[in-house]
Amino acid sequence: MKSRYSDEDAAGYVEKFRDAGEDVALRVYTSQLIGRDASLVMHGGGNTSVKGHWTNILGERVPAIFVKGSGWNLDTIQPPGLPGLDLHYLKKLRELDALTDEEMVNQLRTHMFDASGPNPSVETLLHAFLPHKFVDHSHADAILAITNRPDGEAIVKELFGERIGIVRYVMPGFELAKVCADAYEANPNVEGLVLLKHGLFSFGETAQESYDRHIELVTLAENWLAAERKKGSELTPQFDAPAEPRMFAAQVAPVLRGLLAEATGEPDAPYKRMVLEWRHTPEIMDFVNAAEFSKLALTGPLTPDHVIRTKALPMIIAEPDFGNIEEQLAEAVTEYRRDYNDYFDRIVEQKKIERTRLDDFPRIVLIPGVGLMAWGETKKAARIAADIYEHTIRVKTLVHATGEYEALPEADLFDVEYWSLEQAKLGKAKPKPLQGQIAIVTGAAGAIGSAVAESLIQAGAHVVLSDLDAERLEETCDALGEKHGKDTRRGVVCDVTDEHSVVALFDEVARLFGGADIIVPNAGIAMSRPIEELETDDWQRVMNVNLNGYFLVMREGAKLLRRQGTGGHMVVIGSKNVMAPGAEFAAYSASKAAAHQLAKVSAMELAKEGVRVNVIAPDAVFGNDRNPSGLWDEVGPDRAKAHGIEFKQLEDHYRNRNLLRTRVTGKHVGNAVVFFATNQTPTTGATLPVDGGIVGAFPR
Ligand SMILES: [Zn+2]
Repeated sequence: MKSRYSDEDAAGYVEKFRDAGEDVALRVYTSQLIGRDASLVMHGGGNTSVKGHWTNILGERVPAIFVKGSGWNLDTIQPPGLPGLDLHYLKKLRELDALTDEEMVNQLRTHMFDASGPNPSVETLLHAFLPHKFVDHSHADAILAITNRPDGEAIVKELFGERIGIVRYVMPGFELAKVCADAYEANPNVEGLVLLKHGLFSFGETAQESYDRHIELVTLAENWLAAERKKGSELTPQFDAPAEPRMFAAQVAPVLRGLLAEATGEPDAPYKRMVLEWRHTPEIMDFVNAAEFSKLALTGPLTPDHVIRTKALPMIIAEPDFGNIEEQLAEAVTEYRRDYNDYFDRIVEQKKIERTRLDDFPRIVLIPGVGLMAWGETKKAARIAADIYEHTIRVKTLVHATGEYEALPEADLFDVEYWSLEQAKLGKAKPKPLQGQIAIVTGAAGAIGSAVAESLIQAGAHVVLSDLDAERLEETCDALGEKHGKDTRRGVVCDVTDEHSVVALFDEVARLFGGADIIVPNAGIAMSRPIEELETDDWQRVMNVNLNGYFLVMREGAKLLRRQGTGGHMVVIGSKNVMAPGAEFAAYSASKAAAHQLAKVSAMELAKEGVRVNVIAPDAVFGNDRNPSGLWDEVGPDRAKAHGIEFKQLEDHYRNRNLLRTRVTGKHVGNAVVFFATNQTPTTGATLPVDGGIVGAFPR
């Protein structure tokens, strides 16, 4: 590992963050250097600090410590992510015999200089009790690879000698802060502390000194591992996958997603569902396909922090039989849940404590031939778990080649998983109504489709947008990603009239998110002609997209929903035209009428699966600048002619013919989709007009 410190960049930070002062500016710089290397820290892991002064409102300069605040990641930290605290006071806390985590948080918060700052790191006192100006802490892969083994302490001693102090595992908090200060004082010449099975602290009088020491110590560990690896043995390939992981992943994901959905007992919100991040890099495949797979996988995490994201253990299928995988998965999930509950009961009994039991579902599932399947309440949570587990695989593979892997005992992992500060947060955040749910919208680059996708995202769903037009699809996805975050949506090009393309769409959805719960057939075209002038080809083209397309999407959607076994929704975008058809619009009106009937029959067939099928009947939805309506651009001039008006009068014409004299927008259709998808009423087989009130189209 190379030091990335550059005097020029450092000067740039000092200039950029002039207002925060040189110390904080340089603290931001080297914190970001550490944060940018995923083999040092990931996703909010690690923390850093700098000691200096704060000038209070009376003009007094008081000793201060600026330490990483929670909610900030080191790679993107800025001065507001380093709240300042009263260092003189914090140092006095060391005299106490004990301090609960709750009281520690209270002491930290009440001794901040800016009450609006983020909560300082739970390792703040550790930083405060050390005398050095700069302190850097990481969970470096290489340090975990040498300390997560039975002889870890001996290796650390041999490797670093007098350069570092060794600290046995203690959970982060007041006690760890005291133990670390003692370890430092036992040998004040050390450049850092290795916390066994936790990570590395380095310190120095300048930002560069502390950072360079950190990199040097990690490099020593890396070099030792590389040398030992040459002498050791690599993983032994065992599972010989007869097909592509892509195929297996699409087969496994929806079944697994159904098994991992938590039944709530509430009829209007019957399941809490999870979202998938699937990975199958060569490194992951070598691990899951190895003879040593089970033995290595069924060991604890690299550092206790990870347990919050990945749970202590993954679920594995040791020897998959893809002809019988559904049953194997069901058994494995049952077994995992039983073991998890046993673990909870066992530790609570041992420690004689009370805790709120967390859900008993795995977050990491490993299957030979398939790879790594990480699950989370959101795509982002799943991605974070997958990132952490990729490093876990790398380190466990490395330890296997150079010795024996040993994680912390389960009781220590439990303390972090069931930490009182985390328990206090339970039930406080109110999830969005469609959190954990996945929707598919076809024709999603158009005016209605893109608005429906956006409404679903706003309600908390993850959305797969599908369209035939790759370019417009990408533009729509980019715009939604910029507004709502990149994890909220993915785009998949699909021709709904092509059976293979539709099957491929659903396979891709399974690989991208694990499955789907809300299916919105929406892709449509129109053609305005008197019946005598309607060419057979044109008639068939409209039928093909609007009817066959809906049929294929609903058929494949029904199969997917059945494989998950957790109910779901189809919300079919129909038309006001079914109830009140217009002249010279035969193909469109007939296709939409047939689609309505398709929806009603589907409602009858799928009710026993817990799937509701409803129809939305909008009147003309015109596009806007950002989402032009391809359909209206095409048929608008002819429809205007059919109504005996100019094209530019058309939108007003539609507005003026409804009772509310209102313009119907894509957003209105999106609201209606969310209304059905959130089970606001026990309704299936129904049609909801979104048309401003058209008497001739009243459903009857
Ligand atoms: Zn740590």
